[in-house]
Amino acid sequence: MSNTDTAPDMSFENDTERWQRALEAAGLGVWDWNLKTNICIYSESWCRMLGYRRSEFAENDDLFLLLIHPEDRERAIESGDRHLAGKTDRIETELRLQHKAGHWVWVLDRGAVIERDENGNPLRAIGVQTDITQQKQVERDTSLVNERFRLALTAADIGIWHFDVARGRSFWDAKTCEIFGLDTVSKEIDGDTWHTFLHPEDRHEAETRHFQALSEKSEVKVRYRIVRQDGEIRHLETLAKAVPNQGGAGYLVGTIRDVTAEVEAARALQTEKERYEITLGAINDAVVSTDVDGVINFANPSAERMFSLDEQDLIGLNVDSILRGKGKIKSVQSGTTGGFKDDVVLEIDTSYYRCRRSPVVGSEGKCVGQVYSSHDITSDYNRRKQLAYAAHHDSLTGLYNRVAFDEALEAAILQAGETRLAIFYLDLDHFKALNDFAGHAAGDEALKAIAAGLTALLPEGAFFARLGGDEFAILLKDYDRTSAENFATEAIAAVRDVSLSCAVNGPRLGCSIGVFVIDDASIVPSDALARADDACYAAKSAGRNRFAFFTESRSTRTSGLSAAREVADLTEALEDNRLILFGQEIRSLQRPNEQCGRLEILARLESADGRIIGPGSFIPAAERFGMAAMLDRWIIRKALAEHGHRLGSANLKVGFNLSAQTLCDPTLWPFIKEVAEETFTPLSQIAFEITETAAVSCFETAELFVRSARRHGCSVSLDDFGSGLSSFDYLRRFPISCIKIDGAFVEKIVESKVDRAIIASIMELGRNLGFDVVAEKIENEKVATRLQQLGVAYGQGFHLHKPEPLDDIIGRRSGDAVQMERGIAAVGS
Ligand code: C2E
Ligand code: CA
Ligand code: CA
Repeated sequence: MSNTDTAPDMSFENDTERWQRALEAAGLGVWDWNLKTNICIYSESWCRMLGYRRSEFAENDDLFLLLIHPEDRERAIESGDRHLAGKTDRIETELRLQHKAGHWVWVLDRGAVIERDENGNPLRAIGVQTDITQQKQVERDTSLVNERFRLALTAADIGIWHFDVARGRSFWDAKTCEIFGLDTVSKEIDGDTWHTFLHPEDRHEAETRHFQALSEKSEVKVRYRIVRQDGEIRHLETLAKAVPNQGGAGYLVGTIRDVTAEVEAARALQTEKERYEITLGAINDAVVSTDVDGVINFANPSAERMFSLDEQDLIGLNVDSILRGKGKIKSVQSGTTGGFKDDVVLEIDTSYYRCRRSPVVGSEGKCVGQVYSSHDITSDYNRRKQLAYAAHHDSLTGLYNRVAFDEALEAAILQAGETRLAIFYLDLDHFKALNDFAGHAAGDEALKAIAAGLTALLPEGAFFARLGGDEFAILLKDYDRTSAENFATEAIAAVRDVSLSCAVNGPRLGCSIGVFVIDDASIVPSDALARADDACYAAKSAGRNRFAFFTESRSTRTSGLSAAREVADLTEALEDNRLILFGQEIRSLQRPNEQCGRLEILARLESADGRIIGPGSFIPAAERFGMAAMLDRWIIRKALAEHGHRLGSANLKVGFNLSAQTLCDPTLWPFIKEVAEETFTPLSQIAFEITETAAVSCFETAELFVRSARRHGCSVSLDDFGSGLSSFDYLRRFPISCIKIDGAFVEKIVESKVDRAIIASIMELGRNLGFDVVAEKIENEKVATRLQQLGVAYGQGFHLHKPEPLDDIIGRRSGDAVQMERGIAAVGS
C-alpha cells in the first residue's frame, strides 16, 4: 500500500528532521496518507509510541488497520470517510491501538486533507496521533469517583450546593432543591433565595454561622429550620466550607441534609425519657437498673432513700453487694434468710421491701441487664408478723397462748420417744379476789409479774403458755417425777415471792399446780393436758398453794379422771339421788359433848361402787362448769324438804355452804323464801356460810342477799375467816352474825403464838361487833382447851363431832327433843 518512492515530498531536509525531532519530543506519531496510491506512511515516532521500530513492519503494511482495536475500527474509518466527503473540517477521533507488549494505547487521531485535485478530490491527507492513555485513565478514574460520590450522596440523602460569592449566585443540586420543596432539578438560583426559606427563629444563627465559615475560612456545621413555600417546617443540617478561587472572592461549598425525622425521633425519645424519669421519680417503689454484670446504671429517688445513698454513689456499685451489704434477704415463702431469687422480701434496718427482679431483653433477644423494683411492705409485713405472733401469743404477758401450747404439746409428744415430758397446769389462788378488789389493772400487773417470775425459773427448752384467765401451763422435756416435784415446789415459791406493786395488804397470791408426767407416747395431747388440769383441781381441793400429781388411783373411778367427766357423773348422781347430805355439828366448847342446836350441812357423793366421796373432788368441777348453783339449790331444797318442818320444834339451826355462783344469783333470796314457805321451815332455823372468795365475785349482789337473809332472821357466817386477802373488809360490808375461823389458824394453836394472837384479836373483834365466833377443825382436846382459854365459845371439828348423815343427826335430835318434851311434861304433871 505504501511506497518510499511515493513518499511525501521532503524537500527541506533540515525542516523535516527538525519536525521529526519536535514530534518525537512531543510524543506524537505522524501519518501521511497518499490517497492516489492509498499508501499511508507512519513516522518512526508513531512506531515507537507503540513499542515498535519502523523496520519491524513491511513497507506497505497499513499499520493503522493492523493495530486498531476492533471496537474502534468502524468509528475511526467513518470519521475519516466523513472528512474525505467534505462533511467535517478534519478527522478527529479517539481510538485504541495495540502496543507491542499487548496492551492498548489510547490515541487521539487528528488529521486533515492537505492536497486536492482541480476537481477538489482529496489527494493527500496528513495527521497526528497523540498518546492519550493517561488522560483516558484519569477520565475513567474521575468518572468513577464522581459516580461513587453521586451514589454516596444519594444513599445519604444529602444535597450539595455552592455559593459563588462574587456573583451572588447559588448552585443547588436536585437533592437540595427537593429538600427545599422545589422541583427536583439542579439549578442556579439567586443567592438571596436561601435566606427567604429560613425560619425566623433560626435565621440569625444560620446566617451568622454561614458567614463565619466564609470569613474565617473554616468549616461549620449548623442545624436550622426552614419554612417551605407550603408552610411545612423542616429541620436541616448543613456542612459548609469556604473554598477560595484564584483572585476571586471564592465559594461557599456545602452539603445539606433533611434531619427532621432525626430531630423528631430524638425529641420523642427525650420526651419518653423525661416521662420515665418523672414517673420513676414520683413513685414510691425503689427502682434500680443494672447492666448484665449487675453494675447499677440507674437509681430513682426512692432507691436513694431505700439504700441511704445518692444516685451518683449508687451508680457503678454492684447490686448484689449493696443488697447483701445493706439488708437481709428473706425468701417470701419461708421467711428464712437466703440467696436472691426473682421475688424476695428484703429487710433493711427496720423496713421490709418486696423486691422483684426482671431481666431487660435487648433487641437481639439477649439479656442486657436487670431491673430491680422494691416496694415498701413494712406495715403490711409487720401486720402479718403481728397477726402470726398474736395467733400464738398472749397479748398481756407475751407468753405463748393456748393454741401454741396445744401445738407444742402435740409436737413434743410426737418427738418425745424415750424422753419424759412433764406438764404443769398452774392455777392462781385468790386471783379473782385480787382482780375484783384491787381492780383489773392490778390483776393484769400481777399476771405479768407472775409470768416474768416463772419465766426466770424455766430451764432451756421449756414451753410456757398462759391458757387463759389465771391459768398457765408449762411443758418441760426430760423431767421425771422427782425433778418435776422440785420444779413445782420452786414454781409455787416463785409465785408466792412475786411482789405485787398494787396496794394490796395481806397474804400474797399463791398457785395450785397439777403435774402430769407423760410416759406413754400414744396419749392424745388434749388428754394429757386434761390430766394435768385434774391434778391441779386436786391440788386446789387439797387446800391450794400446793401441787399434786395426776394419779389414776386418786380418781374415785377406775377410768382416768377429768373435770368434764366428773361433772357428767355429778349430773348422773343427782338424777340417781346418789348425792347425800351429811352434817357436822357445831358445839359449845364449854359443853363439848352436847348438841347445841347448830349444824353445817356438807355434801357427799356416793360412788357407783358405794364409796362416799367428799366435796373437795366434785365441788370445784361443779363450779368450773357452772353447776354449783344448781347443786347448792338442790341441797337446800332436799334438806329443807326432808327436815325443814321439824327444825323449829327441834330447835335446830342448819347451815348451808354457798358457792360463788349461788351467792351471785340475785334470785337466791326469793328462792330461799319460797322453799322455806313450801317446806314450812322457819327462816330463823336457817344459816348460810359464805366465803370471802365467793362474795368477792359479786360484792353488791352478795351484800343484798346477806341483808335480806339477816332481816328475815337467818344467820350468816363468814366462813374460812382469815384465809382470804382482806377478810376484815367483809366484816365492814356484811351484817353477818358469825365468824368461822379458818382451820389453818386453829390446828397449830398449841404451838403457834402468832396463830393464838390472831385468834385472840378475832375474838376481840367478835366481842366488840357482837357476833359469834366458831373455830373450825378442832382435832383434839388440847386445841379445844386452848381455844376455850382464848374465850372461843363454839367449835367444830372431828374431836367434837365427825360429819355423819344428816338424817341420823336430825333423827337423834328430834328424838332428844321428844324425850325432853316428855320429861318436861312428866315433871309438870
Ligand atoms: P368448809 O365449809 O370449811 O367445811 C368444813 C370442812 O372441814 C368439811 O370438809 C369438814 O368435813 C372438814 N372438817 C371438819 N372438822 C374437821 C377436822 O377436825 N379436821 C379436818 N381435817 N377437817 C375437818 P368437807 O365436807 O370435805 O367439805 C369441804 C368443803 O366443801 C367445805 O369446806 C365447803 O367449802 C365445801 N362444801 C361442802 N358442802 C358443800 C355444799 O353443799 N355446797 C357448797 N357450795 N360447798 C360445800
Ligand atoms: Ca362451811
Ligand atoms: Ca370452813
